[in-house]
Amino acid sequence: MKVIDHLRQAAAKEPRTLLSFEILPPLKGKDIRSIYAGIDPLLEFKPSFINVTYHREEVVYKERGHGLLQKIRIRKRPGTVGICATIKAKYNIDTVPHLICGGFSKEDTEDALIELNFLGIDNVLALRGDAIKNEPHFIPERDGHAHAEDLIQQIAALNRGQYLYEEEQEAAATDLCIGAACYPEKHAEALNLSTDIAYLKRKVDAGAEYLVTQMFFDNRKFFRFVELCREAGIQAPIIPGLKPITTLRHIAFIPKTFAIDLPDDLANALVRCSTDAEVKAVGIEWSITQARELKAAGVPCLHFYTMGRSEAVKAIASSIF
Ligand SMILES: Cc1cc2nc3c(=O)[nH]c(=O)nc-3n(C[C@H](O)[C@H](O)[C@H](O)COP(=O)(O)OP(=O)(O)OC[C@H]3O[C@@H](n4cnc5c(N)ncnc54)[C@H](O)[C@@H]3O)c2cc1C
Repeated sequence: MKVIDHLRQAAAKEPRTLLSFEILPPLKGKDIRSIYAGIDPLLEFKPSFINVTYHREEVVYKERGHGLLQKIRIRKRPGTVGICATIKAKYNIDTVPHLICGGFSKEDTEDALIELNFLGIDNVLALRGDAIKNEPHFIPERDGHAHAEDLIQQIAALNRGQYLYEEEQEAAATDLCIGAACYPEKHAEALNLSTDIAYLKRKVDAGAEYLVTQMFFDNRKFFRFVELCREAGIQAPIIPGLKPITTLRHIAFIPKTFAIDLPDDLANALVRCSTDAEVKAVGIEWSITQARELKAAGVPCLHFYTMGRSEAVKAIASSIF
């Protein structure tokens, strides 16, 4: 079932807020059972859908002796589509594979969409993707997409039965529900929030039916963002993305990696922590407060970034659902 249909059905009910979460494919060579171990503890909360991230290749340099370095490209977390199909078959839960522009020509994208269609997957989250590590900015493939908007246009075209090349006569249309990303604190590269929202509107006009936010820790920013989107004419449901901070390492990398601010109360509590256990207690408590307020405000869904660890999300969901 499509995410948009889950959201529409839930909107007619009380309580209306759904739960969903995002997982990462395991590192190359790891077992699919690590995925199940992350999902099983959250089944009791009846997730409406599960997102699976897509990870493009990274450039690494291997020492080959005599001072020679070999540049190679490796994908550390392959398997997004296979994992989505497996989760759907094993748990009968809808899945949302992430699809990015980076590393994909338009033809690669078309092949990927055909595969999703054959697998009976009804959803896709359309993203640009980040620059390859060590590259200063995002570089599209020679015949690929530069922005998520262009990718959304391609998916929407396929949903109308328009394939890349004319020769596919009487081609069957796909019927994929398209989601897109949004940023309550603006995307790192955006000039300001207004320009970012103007581009976001273009993604919705191109065919994105719902939006999922980057993680944020200040609900005021989310509420303000939703207001600004509505003022800009964006009517699509906006799903807040939540991430409990659970380790000292998170404190160091989350603000930088995701270009977001931590509110003073949270930052002050975190700087007093000296162990992961202390951070986790603060992070879970903060997420519970955030989630309660968002649910009370009637958000369509609470979407949790598990990053493969379900324990903290389980603790939060237990207090909310
Ligand atoms: C919910 C969520 C899930 C994610 N999952 C993944 C994942 O699985 N794999 C992964 O690699 N990354 C993922 N990301 C990260 C995402 O790929 C990066 O944030 C990326 O830098 C931007 O992607 P986007 O789809 O928002 O890009 P876009 O919408 O293309 O925006 C990128 C930048 O370009 C600007 N822009 C947008 N459209 C135009 C235009 N037409 N012309 C000029 N400028 C424009 C925007 O303002 C923004 O600054 C995810 C992010 C979120 C919020």
